[in-house]
Order: sequence, then C-alpha cells, then structure tokens
Amino acid sequence: MSSNVDSPLGIWAAIISRLDWPTARDGVYPASDLLYFLSTLKLMREPVFRPSPRPIIIMIAASVQSTEASMMQVTGSVACIPCERCAGGGGMFTQCVTVTGWPGLGHCANCHADGTEDSCHLSYPITSVDGGNETHSNME
Ligand SMILES: [Zn+2]
Ligand SMILES: [Zn+2]
Repeated sequence: MSSNVDSPLGIWAAIISRLDWPTARDGVYPASDLLYFLSTLKLMREPVFRPSPRPIIIMIAASVQSTEASMMQVTGSVACIPCERCAGGGGMFTQCVTVTGWPGLGHCANCHADGTEDSCHLSYPITSVDGGNETHSNME
C-alpha cells in the first residue's frame, strides 16, 4: 500500500521540520549530525502515517531515531520499489522513502525508525526522479 504520489506539504511536515521536542534537540542544536543534515534539505512531502493506536506525535518524538526517520520521510525521495518491510505494511509511514547524500543511509525511513535498517534492502536505482533533494550542487 505504498504510493509514489506525494501528498502536498501539510501540518505534520511543518511540525516535524521545527524539531521542537526534547529528543530532537541537544540544547539549541539538532540532536544528531544526521538531523542537522536533514534540516538543511528542502521539504518534499507530507508524511502519511499508517493507522496506529499510538498518537502520531508520540511515534515521531519517541527517540532520536524516530525523529531522524520523520525528517527522512519529509525530505527524502520515494523508493522506486518499496523495501520488503514497507511493501508488507510495516513501519509508521505508508511510503518507502530514503535520503541520498549521507553516508550509511542506504535504508528507508520506516526501517530507520524501527531499527531494522540492516535488513532494509532497496533495489537500484533506489529513488524515483522527483527533482527534489537528489542534487546538492547548490549547497555549500
Ligand atoms: Zn521501506
Ligand atoms: Zn526499509
């Protein structure tokens, strides 16, 4: 039930990108180098959450890992072919989204949040061409 069609930016993208909860911050700075990197990327989509008994903000703010995953979800690119976990209905988000440009991030946001990144196998080419954060030539 993964979709390649992005929802327009909305309230959750706005909330997530503010990183305004305790696990998202180390003092005034983002809680991890990855979060800092993700915070420099353009927002691409509104995250779509799978139905869960847990409140959405609790899932997002549960840990640094889930915070990073939420930022990956709003700034990354939708995988051409969703990973096994996403395709099977796992994870908090409906779309399999991954971020390029950061070492060690060869897995999707759902697997990042769940700590199952080692078993996340994305097929190449990893992401669909959506004109988003694929090129970083204008940075630095
Ligand atoms: Zn996935
Ligand atoms: Zn995955």
